Amino acid sequence: MAEKVVIIGSGPAGWTAAIYAARAEIQPLVYEGAPLQEHFDVGRGPLGQLAMTTEVENFPGFPSGDMSGYLDNAIDPELRQYMAPHMKHGVSGPELMELMRQQAKNFGTRIVGDDIVEVDFNVRPFRLKSREGETIEAHSVIVATGARANYLGLPSEAKFKNRGVSACAVCDGALPRFRGTPCIVVGGGDSAVEEADYMAKFASTVYLVHRRDELRASKIMAERAEKNPKIEIVWNSVIEEVLGDDENGVTGARIKNVVEDSTKVLEASGFFLGIGHTPNTDFLEGKLEMNDKKYLKWTVPFRTNTSVEGVFAAGDVADDNYRQAVTAAGSGCMAALDAERYLAAQGQH
Ligand code: NAP
Repeated sequence: MAEKVVIIGSGPAGWTAAIYAARAEIQPLVYEGAPLQEHFDVGRGPLGQLAMTTEVENFPGFPSGDMSGYLDNAIDPELRQYMAPHMKHGVSGPELMELMRQQAKNFGTRIVGDDIVEVDFNVRPFRLKSREGETIEAHSVIVATGARANYLGLPSEAKFKNRGVSACAVCDGALPRFRGTPCIVVGGGDSAVEEADYMAKFASTVYLVHRRDELRASKIMAERAEKNPKIEIVWNSVIEEVLGDDENGVTGARIKNVVEDSTKVLEASGFFLGIGHTPNTDFLEGKLEMNDKKYLKWTVPFRTNTSVEGVFAAGDVADDNYRQAVTAAGSGCMAALDAERYLAAQGQH
């Protein structure tokens, strides 16, 4: 029998869609992604980008405090025993995602630890194929596969991920380690400028390292960076190596000026990437409309509809602008409500 709704993806958008869909009694089936090392290596494992971060200080409802008891109580003991100890900072990314997953499960969501690798939206019900070769039929689909932050790909960068290396200043920038010390932001687009601007609130100096002699960012954003006395733009420069040690994490970076062909070391406690994101839409190529950066297109204002009726998109996979956990969760809720209404109109609910 065809599923009423299949949700693909397991970040805040996917779990919020599942919570709403389960409570609306449309029995969601979530494909949460396969826990493969090759996925984790590129930042697209199950539970999304939050699963790879540390403290989350900007998700409403989780002020700082000790919630060890709540976590013990709320999350399946089977799973809880493998989770990292609670750090008393409110909530961590992995904790938040496990809480959302548990909440969806509590309302009856069924979860499969596999990827959807192929879709056929030309037939009704839709036909989906999993990595393990299962074929699933579905009357509606919510795509919530997210986007992964781009990294430079240096081994030294991977070594210090979450120990000073981050691709999200808004998520991690206010941590104590970055306060009153210099930090580095890489990139020249709006994201990098925004990260530099954000970090200027906390850091003593922000080195905005860009590989060319002109920012790609919009004029207004570029001017803001150029005028900020705390931001020093380091032009024509690429990162050769992120420097650090086991005790301190990141301590700086060795950069190369590509015009002068010279190298120098910048001391910094933080190393932030602002070099763009890649949406996880490869398996949807040619199936749903996308923008030039391969993000899914929302085709109706203030709705989560995609170019195929009955297929909805939620979270970062369709959002190259806000990219926050709370906005992803919000659009996950919208997608579940849109799917429920669609199913009702089709006489499937
Ligand atoms: P983007 O515009 O594609 O810029 C990426 C930047 O990273 C470029 O400056 C690029 O350099 C640099 N870069 C890419 N790969 C690199 C590498 N391997 N090494 C060094 N540098 C590298 O991406 P984005 O800044 O994330 O922006 C994406 C979209 O979101 C844009 O449309 C942007 O306007 C929007 N956005 C808007 C806001 C806002 O309005 N507040 C905030 C964030 C994002 P080159 O310039 O040399 O190519």
